[in-house]
Amino acid sequence: NLTDKFEKAFKVLKGQGQISEVNVAETLKEVRRALLDADVNFKTAKNFTKTVKEKALGRDVLTAVSPGQLMTKICHEQLVELMGGNETEVNYQGNPAVILMSGLQGSGKTTFSGKLANFLKSKKGKNPLLVACDVYRPAAIDQLHVLGEQIGVEVYSNKEEKNPVKIAEAAVQHAKSNSHNVVIIDTAGRLAIDQEMMNEIASVKEAIQPTETLFVVDAMTGQDAVNTAKAFNEKINFDGVILTKLDGDTRGGAAISIKAVVDKPIKFVGTGEKMDAIDIFYPKRMADRILGMGDVVSLVERAQEQYDEKEAQKLQKKIKKNQFDFNDFLSQLHQVKKMGNVKDLMGMIPGMGKAMKGVEIEDDAFKHIEAIIYSMSPYERENPKAIDVSRKKRIAKGSGQSLQEVNKLLKQFNDTKKMMKMMSNKKNMASMMKQMK
Ligand code: GDP
Ligand code: MG
Repeated sequence: NLTDKFEKAFKVLKGQGQISEVNVAETLKEVRRALLDADVNFKTAKNFTKTVKEKALGRDVLTAVSPGQLMTKICHEQLVELMGGNETEVNYQGNPAVILMSGLQGSGKTTFSGKLANFLKSKKGKNPLLVACDVYRPAAIDQLHVLGEQIGVEVYSNKEEKNPVKIAEAAVQHAKSNSHNVVIIDTAGRLAIDQEMMNEIASVKEAIQPTETLFVVDAMTGQDAVNTAKAFNEKINFDGVILTKLDGDTRGGAAISIKAVVDKPIKFVGTGEKMDAIDIFYPKRMADRILGMGDVVSLVERAQEQYDEKEAQKLQKKIKKNQFDFNDFLSQLHQVKKMGNVKDLMGMIPGMGKAMKGVEIEDDAFKHIEAIIYSMSPYERENPKAIDVSRKKRIAKGSGQSLQEVNKLLKQFNDTKKMMKMMSNKKNMASMMKQMK
């Protein structure tokens, strides 16, 4: 399923796989494949990875987390956004509020009507009325009566009447005179998208002007769910989506692409056949579920906070006082190295991605820089200015590098220091990196 696919996609980045090198591009390819396999619409999947990549390239490099963790977090954020950001409530305000169900046969309309009535009664103190508007299958009417009895909610039906508009209108009247403040209208569906069914639901909608029209869809139908949603939305312009049967081994794909394709929020999910198997749809929780990495994400957040607070502040102080020395340089180097190989890191620096294309950098590009710094005495590391020619020669010898390399590093260090000083009014190193864009 999608969660497993994502796990696999991140495996490389997490360093759990055979490959220890960070490879963002490869990971994104895997992520996209995972989305497509989960029946996420092609355009949606493509846009998703494109956005994630852009965000990854723009992210701060100097964080205490691995690129894999950072990517996970960005994917998570992006998924949440794609699924609508925050939860959206069903509008049940009105006198009475009228909620109309639509969707194919078997999608779970009748079951969800019962669940919603139960939810509004027990959680919101409402007095709902359920309305059976499936005029084709008497069994469907009985089904709703059984559910109504179970949850103690009145069910309005009329087996003699064959016009659903008339039933709906009469039901709203009945609700008004019996102080029901919410009316939930269950309608008939067909096995496939069908013009007659569409016209019928459209005319019910037109006649009773519901407060809220909901489209119920079986999450297990994958890409079909998206096509059905599109067709229904074009015809009846519904307000929200109910994703049912999320309890099984369901592909999460529908949840991701429906919002992207019809731009309507998912409001509830169904997670079982029982009347209490209903959940408000939280994009954040769904993203957790899809990525299967809720823990990683919060871990990353914490790590980022810690880094920001401690490291950055300490460094900031030193830069301000112009005390930035080779020990700090080294620790920054290690910070960066922790995140992965140099080329990929460079690629993550804003604007560097393109410049680095085709450039070959060895993994241990930092190695001789480290060697030079390690060959400095503690005094020299703290007082780079004191490094004169004779000290330079000694350091070169000790590190096995040329005098030229030592000079280059010292110049690099001084440039960095100058730039840091210049930027020292900025919040931290991270924001400085952004300035370089
Ligand atoms: P309708 O034709 O759209 O009214 O669909 P129904 O409400 O009759 O549901 C069709 C079948 O799906 C029934 O057997 C329900 O018990 C089942 N069902 C509905 N919602 C869920 C759900 O969230 N999870 C599971 N596992 N089954 C569901
Ligand atoms: Mg039904």
